[in-house]
Amino acid sequence: MAKRSSDQDTIVAVATGPGRGAIGIVRISGPEAIPIASGLFHGKKELAKMAGFTAAHGWVFEDGQRLDEVLSLVLRAPNSYTREDTVEFHCHGGPLPLRRVLAAAVRAGARPAEPGEFTKRAFLAGRLDLAQAEAVADLIASETEAAAKSAAAQLAGELSRRLGQRGEEVAELLARLEAGIDFGEEEEVPAVAREDLIAGLAEADKDFSALLQSAATGRRYREGARVVIAGRPNVGKSTLMNALLQTERVIVTPSPGTTRDVVEDLIELSGIPVRLADTAGLREVGDPVERMGVAKARAALAEADLALVLVDGSETLSSADRQIVIQVSCPLILAVNKSDLPPAASEEDLRTLAGPARTARISALTGQGLEELKKDIVAELTGTTSTETPLLANLRHVSALAAAQAALREAMVAAQQGLSDEFTASDLRRALDHLGQITGEAADDELLDLIFSRFCIGK
Ligand code: GDP
Repeated sequence: MAKRSSDQDTIVAVATGPGRGAIGIVRISGPEAIPIASGLFHGKKELAKMAGFTAAHGWVFEDGQRLDEVLSLVLRAPNSYTREDTVEFHCHGGPLPLRRVLAAAVRAGARPAEPGEFTKRAFLAGRLDLAQAEAVADLIASETEAAAKSAAAQLAGELSRRLGQRGEEVAELLARLEAGIDFGEEEEVPAVAREDLIAGLAEADKDFSALLQSAATGRRYREGARVVIAGRPNVGKSTLMNALLQTERVIVTPSPGTTRDVVEDLIELSGIPVRLADTAGLREVGDPVERMGVAKARAALAEADLALVLVDGSETLSSADRQIVIQVSCPLILAVNKSDLPPAASEEDLRTLAGPARTARISALTGQGLEELKKDIVAELTGTTSTETPLLANLRHVSALAAAQAALREAMVAAQQGLSDEFTASDLRRALDHLGQITGEAADDELLDLIFSRFCIGK
């Protein structure tokens, strides 16, 4: 799979973000990086003679014309990100000078890099495994502290180490099992006792389960969650929405789907990006315009990960409140609002309405109970109150690990039922194959292309 880097083109891209900045970097990597860069660069030092990890000041010239004043950083194989010879021109950070330097490098023989191609080369050269390479993209894309923390841990190789260790243990069991198959007829004792095999697999199974459990949390950190505030008119939905927006950092993103009837905003709760939607009152109405609002509210509710069903605690509960709870199919929290006023809703009615759901007493007006409500929301979304950094967040990793675990469990069943070891061995080989897709040992070109095409150009 791994192409040798000496067989590859020399690639070039602008490595810094679009727009204006103090500096912008044009990165050239590949076997011809130094000759190409050296042909463009004129400074006190001769670039071709510079040692790795040294920099020189000078100008980029093309056909006698000055393009930009730059600092050239030389990195020599294998001590670079791609493990190839690499030159970075630190230019002035405007789109035009960067484009001109880039074009000059292309005319001098470099090829414009594809998205993620530098990182792909780092992966093919063995500098990063696939899970780490994907963590690079996740780190760049992370919108919250928690997502960044999780991606950084993965980039540092924590997920790879944990899976690698488990993979080795399973591979060892497989090898001993295969030894037993090969020599089983001559030798009395199987190479691995069945109880040891089953116990070893059970250990791996337990670890996979723990990782998969943390994945739900990880996915929330990355993809966020949709929380819909529902309730009949005048219970305080808009007031609650405003109160939550004011107390939390609002994440600024273009938010499509904002309509007159469903108001949405993105806030961060304990590191989770939460898309909060305030819906129109959910009730049967005759007016067509209002009916549209209700339809949108229902649609928002159908896509929600969590509903905050708001009732007015200063009034007795009505059938409209019950109707709304019935319509909610996702997990819900019953928030009893206006608790600054004398209570009128009966405790028993509230308990019946909430069923197994959490109940929070709040006042959207005074802010009372909001901190508790936010904690309840986070607990409901993550299914846990643990603050441990989830290692598994990437959906591709989750499904590969789930497939590995399924194969592992089939191997355990085969072993427990005393089926031929061939069955167990074949299941274990499948389990290892799925594990290998996470770190990349078993990833094919198509998968690699798919993964790296999601990177930005220049990374
Ligand atoms: P919505 O129709 O559900 O969005 O309800 P609003 O947020 O517009 O609130 C309806 C009325 O209830 C307004 O007059 C609010 O000021 C009032 N209200 C909302 N929350 C509270 C609360 O916690 N306590 C009290 N006393 N009044 C509230």
